[in-house]
Amino acid sequence: MKVLVLGSGTCVPSRTRNAPGYLVETGSENILVDCGSGVLRQLTCAGRTHLDLDAVLITHLHPDHMADLLPLVHALKYTPGQIRRKTLYLVSPADLEEYFRTCLFAVLSPPRTFRLEFLQTSEAVRLGDCRITACPTLHSRESVAFKVDSEGRSVVFTGDTDYGVGLVDFCRDVDLLVADCSFPDEMKMGGHMVPSECGRLATEAGAGHLVLSHLYATEVPEAARVTQAARAYAGPISLAEDFSEYDVGQSGKPKTWCPDQIDRGGNP
Ligand SMILES: [Zn+2]
Ligand SMILES: [Zn+2]
Repeated sequence: MKVLVLGSGTCVPSRTRNAPGYLVETGSENILVDCGSGVLRQLTCAGRTHLDLDAVLITHLHPDHMADLLPLVHALKYTPGQIRRKTLYLVSPADLEEYFRTCLFAVLSPPRTFRLEFLQTSEAVRLGDCRITACPTLHSRESVAFKVDSEGRSVVFTGDTDYGVGLVDFCRDVDLLVADCSFPDEMKMGGHMVPSECGRLATEAGAGHLVLSHLYATEVPEAARVTQAARAYAGPISLAEDFSEYDVGQSGKPKTWCPDQIDRGGNP
């Protein structure tokens, strides 16, 4: 299983960090987790294609996590020379079918050559070699974290969330934990985690590797977040970068490529 970061940023436009999006590639499935604005282009720039997507998981309805969802279906209908046949699964905690009806199918007819299947997160979803589960989080009324299990390995995307004990149980023994780390410790805001909370979550859950993502630009140097998280978590930590890839492997320890150097000493 591989995880490709398409967007490590937030709702605030940035030259280096796109709005949230991650591609999970398993033996049989291509799964997009969140689909913020620009994610379709990021996918293309990464040498992948929207045509190959099997499922999209939406953690919550804030626009930075779902703005490219309608453009995705539009593109699947109208890519020249391509007729999509396979079903696109849309998994979310909210009624996305109603959203599509109101916002897209009022002006554009629904796809005819393929099906959109809307699945709720209240039950586990099995797709090919994957099992997808969700857990409510402390952010918005509907927000969830997603876990993808495949071939004995697992990855959790917290989506936007504050620290909570329910999340610790959900992340138990996960191989790769992609966590909301919106702000450094000195700028804590409710509804999001800071690095020390990400580290605490990773430690308490026994996560194999912590990836800090959903990064707002602040005055505090970004590297400080790794140092702050490392005070609470002794395992490997990466600061997510757009287009960085994590190979979660099939057995043994996760094989990961970390673009950053971790400085565990000194002050941020
Ligand atoms: Zn967000
Ligand atoms: Zn949000």
